[in-house]
Amino acid sequence: MENCIFCKILNENSEKKIYENDGFFSIPDVNPVAEGHSLVISKKHFKTILDIQDSLGPELLDCIKNTALKLIKETNSEGFNVMNNNFEVAGQVVNHLHFHILPRRKDDGKILDFFDNE
Ligand code: AMP
Ligand code: ZN
Repeated sequence: MENCIFCKILNENSEKKIYENDGFFSIPDVNPVAEGHSLVISKKHFKTILDIQDSLGPELLDCIKNTALKLIKETNSEGFNVMNNNFEVAGQVVNHLHFHILPRRKDDGKILDFFDNE
C-alpha cells in the first residue's frame, strides 16, 4: 500500500531483516524501548489482527518464535513480551499489522508503560 512505512520496508528488501517466512518478516524497532525491541510484520498490508485469515496463524507463530529465540540469544535475555496494538485507542500508530517482541531482563524497568496513550 502506498505511503505505508512497513510496506516500503518490505519492498526495500532491507538487510535489517532478522527472520522471514512467506507471510511475515521481522526487523529491529527504529525507536527501541528495550534492548533488542523488534517488530514482526505481515508481508501483506493488513491493518489489525482482525483482518488476517486464520490460515496465516502457523506462519505468524513461526516468525514470532524464531525472532524471539534469536533476540534472546543476541541480547542475553531471560524472557520476552509479545505485544500487538489494534486501533488508535489501543496505541496503534502504524496502521499495518505488527507485533512487538520485547526481550526482558530482571530489573529492566516498567517498559510496558510505553504502550499506553497519555
Ligand atoms: P504501534 O504503536 O504498535 O503502532 O508501534 C509502531 C512501532 O513502529 C513503534 O514502536 C515505532 O518505533 C516503530 N516504527 C515506526 N517506523 C519504523 C521504521 N521505519 N522502522 C522500524 N520501526 C518503525
Ligand atoms: Zn502496509
